[in-house]
Amino acid sequence: MVDVTLDLENMPLLHPITSHTAYIPGANNLGIILTGDGGAIAVDTGLDKDTGRLVRRALDEAGLQLRAIISTHHHADHIGGNDYLVRNLPGVVVHASRLEAPFIENPILEPIYLTLGASPPSALRTKWLMAKGAPVHQIIDEDAVDIAGVRLEIIPLPGHSLGQIGVAFDGVCFAADGFFGSEILVKHGVPYAHDVAAQIASLERLAMRDERWFLPGHGGLTPRNELEDTLRANQYAIERASRAVRAALAEPGDTLAVARRVQRMLALTITGLPQYAIFVSAVAAHLSYLEAQGDVTLVMTDEGAVWRGGS
Ligand SMILES: [Zn+2]
Repeated sequence: MVDVTLDLENMPLLHPITSHTAYIPGANNLGIILTGDGGAIAVDTGLDKDTGRLVRRALDEAGLQLRAIISTHHHADHIGGNDYLVRNLPGVVVHASRLEAPFIENPILEPIYLTLGASPPSALRTKWLMAKGAPVHQIIDEDAVDIAGVRLEIIPLPGHSLGQIGVAFDGVCFAADGFFGSEILVKHGVPYAHDVAAQIASLERLAMRDERWFLPGHGGLTPRNELEDTLRANQYAIERASRAVRAALAEPGDTLAVARRVQRMLALTITGLPQYAIFVSAVAAHLSYLEAQGDVTLVMTDEGAVWRGGS
């Protein structure tokens, strides 16, 4: 007799992409690279120790040994499993880019920068913004690296985060938050950005790639022939956000006033304080972007620092 529950439990956690790549689908897709000699490299580890456990279980099930982690960027939902995996699986080497490493090792820095540099309030000290810190053993500086005996191409994808990287191997591009699935864009309204110009340039860099598969951190595994449409949807969401920020400055206002107007204009529902902090930060990124283009200026007034739209 077939026990359906049991069958579901026995479903392999690892979804193969090509002969040497796989992923664990979820709210955060976790990439897996097979070294070919029984080893595996994880590209990001998800939100917390539960996703760390999931990686461990998926690899156990497939008879693979975790040798290394590549952390694409420091956001809590990408590095939260590092601590569990490094503590429980001896010999795992964590790799990250030079600019991301300090944030991965000191996760308090994310809520600090979302609090204008101040010691963060308790609402921002949650696992959504502050993962458990774990050491980064190796800094990735080059555009190709040897990790666990495998040669990997590193793709710079800054913009969403200061020094985000993607990884290309065996016809698969692990693109992290270099782009989002279309359904994610609809849900979030404003794709999170640290540097909007760099974010757009990273989309263009992805458009030049010729891998067969593209795995975003959030959204579905994307075949090459669907990539252009998805990248265009990302570009559109970014431009829409910029236009809304620009339109919000029909009257001068400080950053929080602009954020309030943009939220209303795009009819965004923002329920939690962490989500609000992230949204305001993305609005600030768009203000800096528009300033660099000469569209808006920041001036000191009796009311404090106020943004003004050009004529
Ligand atoms: Zn991210």
